[in-house]
Amino acid sequence: MALIVQKYGGTSVGSVERVRAVAKHIATFKENGHDLIITVSAPSGVTDKLVAATEKFSNVSAREKDVMLSIGEQISIARLVMALNELGIPAVSMTGWQMGICTDAEHTKARILAVKTERAKKELAEGKVIVLAGFQGVTVDGDITTLGRGGSDTTAVAIAAAIGADLCEIYTDVDGVYTADPRMVRGASKLNVITYNEMLELASLGAKVLHPRSVEIAKNYNVKLSVRSSFDTSKEGTLVVNQLEKEFVVTGVACDQKVAKFGIFDIEDKPGLATVVFQALADAKINVDMIIQSAMRNNLNDISFTVPLEDMERTIKVLEELRENIGFSDIVFSPDVAKISLVGAGMTSAPGVAAKMFSVLAENNINIEMICTSEIRISCIIEKWNGIPAKAMQALHDAFNLDKLDQVTE
Ligand code: ASP
Ligand code: MG
Repeated sequence: MALIVQKYGGTSVGSVERVRAVAKHIATFKENGHDLIITVSAPSGVTDKLVAATEKFSNVSAREKDVMLSIGEQISIARLVMALNELGIPAVSMTGWQMGICTDAEHTKARILAVKTERAKKELAEGKVIVLAGFQGVTVDGDITTLGRGGSDTTAVAIAAAIGADLCEIYTDVDGVYTADPRMVRGASKLNVITYNEMLELASLGAKVLHPRSVEIAKNYNVKLSVRSSFDTSKEGTLVVNQLEKEFVVTGVACDQKVAKFGIFDIEDKPGLATVVFQALADAKINVDMIIQSAMRNNLNDISFTVPLEDMERTIKVLEELRENIGFSDIVFSPDVAKISLVGAGMTSAPGVAAKMFSVLAENNINIEMICTSEIRISCIIEKWNGIPAKAMQALHDAFNLDKLDQVTE
């Protein structure tokens, strides 16, 4: 008998039939004597509609936006408990605040600070399946928060970590984590296992399977995590683990088309100036990636970096405000770019991966605007339009033979 957390995404609970199918699947686990905490997303499309509903008003505060956005998950918990009850399975719905998913007050992208488990333990002891609303939390002041789009994954992993679950299964509309988005790349293949670090890079780089923060928590608390299909539950899915005996040089190629690039020019070369720029961006809660400062000339530096596309306008504002104090000559930016990345835990010890990536892009006449590397990834900024990101992904996937990974299971 195990304690299992399962999360079902929006399409998995998108209709009454789907909710009933999920309830039946849960019943099989209950019959085998497992304790279950189920986290659900809003039915597919509902959160988008709620976002649209807030856009009918001007000057909407983030606090009120969260009151609206958190509604969707509540539909799902009620429906799933009703479907479980139809099958004679005792179950109880819980909102984020009833459970005690405590977050900071960064509305619309709150971070979980603590998760209470007393109520959950009591309900489990009474033999009930707990059905917990994903994506939502509560501040110390009792205000409703949401965790950012896709945040139900994070709710699931956080409750699994807090209660010490034996396994956290993320059920979704794909049957696992792929070497590339199968809708964009021919021959994309499913991975049986992947490391937390690779998954973290892929999730942050625009592979939509898991909310990046959920992988971070899974890694920090060593939560056994699996991603699998709710439509074909006979399939094994992908297991996310700490380490693999055989690491691939390249495990996946990801493309983030929702980025903007920035350059600030002619910053005086003296200590402390980079801090001022990036502290100001951090204070504005803007997530910066690909920071590049190259060799300086005439005592002047240029710094470039990328930010999420949704934060472009705010970044411009922050930089304009700094410009006077710091005195850089120019700010350039562009939303017309994509970040294409290769990820692989074995990259650290394999020379030549970057050279090969650049030559594949060159052969395809794709210009590289920025380059940045970490231990387990290489990212390039390229042009976004004219099908270039898809062409780049396919070419890299083919060149690194990702359709033929010689996989072993854990
Ligand atoms: N319902 C939220 C969204 O659509 C959270 C989630 O599905 O994970 O982003
Ligand atoms: Mg999701």
